[in-house]
Amino acid sequence: MERTSLHPSERGNIRLSFEYFPPKNEEMETQLFQTVADLASFAPAFQTVTYGAGGSTKARSLTTVRRMIGEMGFRNTAAHMTCVGAPRSEVDAVVEEFLACGVHHFVALRGDPQGGVGSAYQPFPGGYENAAALVKALRARGDFEISVSAYPEKHPESRDAAADIDMLKRKVDNGATRAITQFFFDNDHFERYLDQVRRAGIDVPIVPGILPINNLSQVMKFAGLCGSTVPDAITSRLAHLDDQPAERFREASHIAAEQIVDLVRRGVRDFHIYTMNRSPLVAAVCELLGYVRSPVKAEERAVDESIKTAAG
Ligand code: FAD
Repeated sequence: MERTSLHPSERGNIRLSFEYFPPKNEEMETQLFQTVADLASFAPAFQTVTYGAGGSTKARSLTTVRRMIGEMGFRNTAAHMTCVGAPRSEVDAVVEEFLACGVHHFVALRGDPQGGVGSAYQPFPGGYENAAALVKALRARGDFEISVSAYPEKHPESRDAAADIDMLKRKVDNGATRAITQFFFDNDHFERYLDQVRRAGIDVPIVPGILPINNLSQVMKFAGLCGSTVPDAITSRLAHLDDQPAERFREASHIAAEQIVDLVRRGVRDFHIYTMNRSPLVAAVCELLGYVRSPVKAEERAVDESIKTAAG
């Protein structure tokens, strides 16, 4: 039987972070902010808000980040920023807006090609040519945290794993302080990747992206697009549970908790959880790991009046 719980001494050294995406409508907005408030009781080291390639979620990402920092008081909120499909001036202006919201941590990304995943990437005329160029510009702008992407199973556009690690090195050489991985389910992929990354002289934390599986067929489709594999050992645990939501939920929470416990055994201490803006499954994973909800600390809640005012 796989272990799902961490020893208290292990838990004390672990940092969780949570990822959210900006809501598309009022109902999703309510759900998002309830989720953020709920998961804050697990004291994440930081939380991030995604940004649509080509600025497609610009206003919604800004509003979400502004509310999480300015109204909810979560100053540990990081803003994703993509540079595909936009001139430098537009990207720089959005960065300024995030800074005015109180952001001090960016997740700097290129973004998918404008023709969609699988189409050829073309740098935008007068734009940042890739994530490494964006990192360089952000680093020149200030002394904040910069996280970037990493791909244990290789990015679909990459020629090979070496080209991928070479790109990661360029991003770190330009000032990135952490890499967060694409989701994966086979920890051996991550361990092999981490070995290669360290051998390439990259020494920033490489934080595994963990995706608790709310919906297996959706995850398999998404995995196919982004080059992640879903091992048979996982599909066979979930595929027959389509009509048994309670059992499916239990199994999915165990799968994610087991993955984290195994990574802790392999020496990993930081975990970034893709929440899909829903708290029950993520909360169940945290509870299996042995986390107990704690009241959100006063300083995390301290609303910055200047930001709130700027938010209107
Ligand atoms: P890069 O790091 O610049 O490149 C990724 C890899 O692709 C490189 O390792 C390189 O080997 C290869 N590559 C890049 N350009 C080329 C080229 N021209 N030819 C051949 N190979 C090339 N997307 C969003 O739209 N919004 C988000 O908020 C967002 N957040 C993400 C967060 C994380 C943690 C991760 C892992 C991904 C996220 N993505 C997001 C997805 C990401 O934008 C896509 O994977 C995109 O295709 C690549 O962006 P990048 O920053 O990883 O690119």
